[in-house]
Amino acid sequence: MQVADDAKAILKRLGVPDAVFAKEGLAARSPIDGSIIGYLRADTPEEAKTKIARAAAAFKQWRLVPAPRRGEFVRLLGEELRAAKADLGRLVTLEAGKIVSEGLGEVQEMIDICDYGVGLSRQLFGLTIATERPSHRMMETWHPLGVCGVISAFNFPVAVWSWNAALAFVCGDPVVWKPSEKTMLTALAVQALVKRAAETFGGVPDGLHEVLIGGRDLGEILVDDHRVPVVSATGSTAMGRQVGPKLAARFARAILELGGNNAAIVAPSADLDLALRGIAFAAMGTAGQRCTTLRRLFVHDSVYDTLVPRLRKVYGSVKIGDPRENGVLVGPLIDKAAFDGMQRALDEARAAGAAITGGTRQSVGGADAYYVAPALVEMKAHEGPVKRETFAPILYVMRYSKFEDAIVMQNDVGAGLSSSLFTLDMREAETFVSVAGSDCGIANVNIGPSGAEIGGAFGGEKETGGGREAGSDAWKAYMRRATNTINYGTTLPLAQGVSFDIAE
Ligand code: NAD
Repeated sequence: MQVADDAKAILKRLGVPDAVFAKEGLAARSPIDGSIIGYLRADTPEEAKTKIARAAAAFKQWRLVPAPRRGEFVRLLGEELRAAKADLGRLVTLEAGKIVSEGLGEVQEMIDICDYGVGLSRQLFGLTIATERPSHRMMETWHPLGVCGVISAFNFPVAVWSWNAALAFVCGDPVVWKPSEKTMLTALAVQALVKRAAETFGGVPDGLHEVLIGGRDLGEILVDDHRVPVVSATGSTAMGRQVGPKLAARFARAILELGGNNAAIVAPSADLDLALRGIAFAAMGTAGQRCTTLRRLFVHDSVYDTLVPRLRKVYGSVKIGDPRENGVLVGPLIDKAAFDGMQRALDEARAAGAAITGGTRQSVGGADAYYVAPALVEMKAHEGPVKRETFAPILYVMRYSKFEDAIVMQNDVGAGLSSSLFTLDMREAETFVSVAGSDCGIANVNIGPSGAEIGGAFGGEKETGGGREAGSDAWKAYMRRATNTINYGTTLPLAQGVSFDIAE
């Protein structure tokens, strides 16, 4: 079946009518063959503001719904996602170009975070804190914060939304979502599933979930709107540099999930079979288009000449092609700009004397599709293009001889998202996850840097933005904390022994 017909049939089954397609407007494309699935009309700035106003109005009602009831809504959403998993996963494949198991995995992640949200809805606890004043009680209360803006990137078109939305809904916040302009159809499909869950739940206020269709201008409207007290923005560091200061200027909360330049270190004691698998998945999976993709590999001198030839062989044999086909592990790049960016980085590496395996365009999918052989780039030094994120399957490989030097190189980039170490040496492993080790938000041992589970807090430091989403206590970013002190006595003792005696 043609991509467009397949996508439209899925959308219809998920509750998105054909009528959403316009004769002209924003093109929804498939990277599988570069074809246009259809055109969508972008929201005007006024329409965007109306949607934000609806969400702000919904907040007044939703915040009063008890949190476990809000959790029930998220449970129903999880049920819709379970029922729609095959269709939505396929739509992710069609629109983002992920291989079938990764498209399905993305939806599974949405289901997982909904399950997590249901449990969380009964656990939004605050502390009771010892007070120095007699007959007083001090405690903290967590209240819903308000409309949560979500800006998302193309490469996790729906999972990132769910990390935010499941928590925001449970925490009592409506969501206004500006999906990537490259993956608008999956967003409309999710909107339809939210609507179904809302109908089953009954009594969900209008505006609890709004989607803004359009480019970065609509993202800017969301960022600038004072009715949106928290914005979770996922995308490039360049985007975060624009969004972060604007949110700071109006004292809104920012959850920034930006670019990564993730590394792995392979130590002398590493289990090389395991390392090989971990490296291959982390570097080539999703065609190198994960924020956590492995981009820099530091291999100890003593194992370099064993591991790297094996890696070269894997790079030469991996199946590249239509992500819908069985056995394909590397699908397309999202578009021509991604391909051009990859070639620029490879040219720079070549000029710096690197030896390159792969990296060339493959004749798959026609003139408007961009498939590449993943590139293994053996660098002479940690320099040039190695130090920045190129959102494509390029793995820069370098040697090291001292573990301390490998850690210094691993930390010597702007981004601080994810990192990993392959070793069986306990001292190295513990050093790596200690304060003297990796400076990233994610530091793994004997697994690659990608493929996180929702139970942990996800995010990174430095130019990755410092935001955290999904598990652990990430929910706190979607709520406001009030510290309450209650005096149940008959006197008014002041803290710190201050006396303030007034005369009447
Ligand atoms: P991008 O920065 O081009 O766009 C991301 C989103 O931001 C889009 O919806 C876009 O419309 C919007 N946007 C861009 N400029 C904006 C502005 N000034 N104001 C408001 N909105 C704006 O990113 P992309 O190419 O879609 O995704 C790839 C990037 O995302 C990579 O750098 C990757 O590492 C990063 N990413 C990070 C994480 C994470 O959790 N840290 C997850 C996924 C992707």
